[in-house]
Amino acid sequence: MPNVLAILEQRDGTLKKVSHEVLAAARILADGMGGEAHGLLIGGSGVSGDGLGAFGADTVFVAAAEGLERYQPDRYAAVAAAQVGAGDYGAVMVAATAMGKDLAPRVAARTGGALAADATSVSYDGGVVVTRPAYAGKATYTLKLTATPAVVAVRPNAMAPIQADKAGTVQTVAVEAGEGRATTVEMKQPESAALDVAEASVVVAGGRGLKEAEHFTLLEELAAVLGGAVGASRAVVDAGWRPHSEQVGQTGKVVSPSLYFAVGVSGAIQHLAGIRTAGTIVAINKDPDAPIFKAADYGIVGDLFEVLPRLTEEAKKLKEG
Ligand SMILES: Cc1cc2nc3c(=O)[nH]c(=O)nc-3n(C[C@H](O)[C@H](O)[C@H](O)COP(=O)(O)OP(=O)(O)OC[C@H]3O[C@@H](n4cnc5c(N)ncnc54)[C@H](O)[C@@H]3O)c2cc1C
Repeated sequence: MPNVLAILEQRDGTLKKVSHEVLAAARILADGMGGEAHGLLIGGSGVSGDGLGAFGADTVFVAAAEGLERYQPDRYAAVAAAQVGAGDYGAVMVAATAMGKDLAPRVAARTGGALAADATSVSYDGGVVVTRPAYAGKATYTLKLTATPAVVAVRPNAMAPIQADKAGTVQTVAVEAGEGRATTVEMKQPESAALDVAEASVVVAGGRGLKEAEHFTLLEELAAVLGGAVGASRAVVDAGWRPHSEQVGQTGKVVSPSLYFAVGVSGAIQHLAGIRTAGTIVAINKDPDAPIFKAADYGIVGDLFEVLPRLTEEAKKLKEG
């Protein structure tokens, strides 16, 4: 029976949360195919697979070598393709992150597989079936990938991680030395160590209704209480109030948190394109006809400068028990 390989993502040796979701997707497919779920962690010589067996993989392979500390397009693709070639793999799962979106087509090309980007669900029905949004989230379509391996980039926050009862084994694999045609020479971290809006499970996003950049402290306070990230509409990014890394929407990031606050955001379709797979959407807007209320699960019609401090206060009380 074919197995499924999940390519795990680390940054500075620390596994990214989305890797657990990619393993969960691999588990779903492996169970459907009747095969095993494997993980592949690629990293520098010090990278460790300790504890990785607990998230649904039968085996986690660790490919550690000098020069692989950070993402190297050709070398990572070569290591992944070598692993696919060494086993019987029906599918390869990758996170649809900046790294995964670059890596997935390279792996598909090297292995002669099929590619589906930005999947929000996966299943097996005689072939790998994925759903993915189209037309900026206005439609969802279903694809059946018949070529193998089916390489699928899974959207962050779309799958619930698994905590397996039985821990899988961790094995190291040899990595061939090599030079890539393209080499990553530097990775720039965002200035603040803030949680990435695309990975956060709670996002508190603000729009032009905040009136000025300084008022975003109101959102930062609520985000801090809820352990979430601050997001922004394009209008406020264009105004220079917030960095582009926080922009949500068609020309920003697609987010899938379980809880999304849209505060002083009108709900233009380009903004909604980024939040279609969010769980619960809460809108705060003083205009009862603002389009955001059509997308929201809960709506508060009111002045955000009155509502937000009260909401933060109540959230604090709940948290403190
Ligand atoms: C090609 C293209 C791509 C785009 N991509 C994106 C994108 O990726 N992301 C994105 O967000 N936009 C995008 N846009 C822009 C989009 O069309 C909107 O212009 C933008 O989203 C509006 O931002 P906003 O909601 O912050 O501002 P506004 O539309 O000005 O809305 C402000 C809202 O705040 C409310 N408000 C004001 N004061 C208060 C108050 N005191 N209390 C409560 N509510 C208040 C108002 O009622 C209003 O609804 C794109 C546009 C184009 C053409």
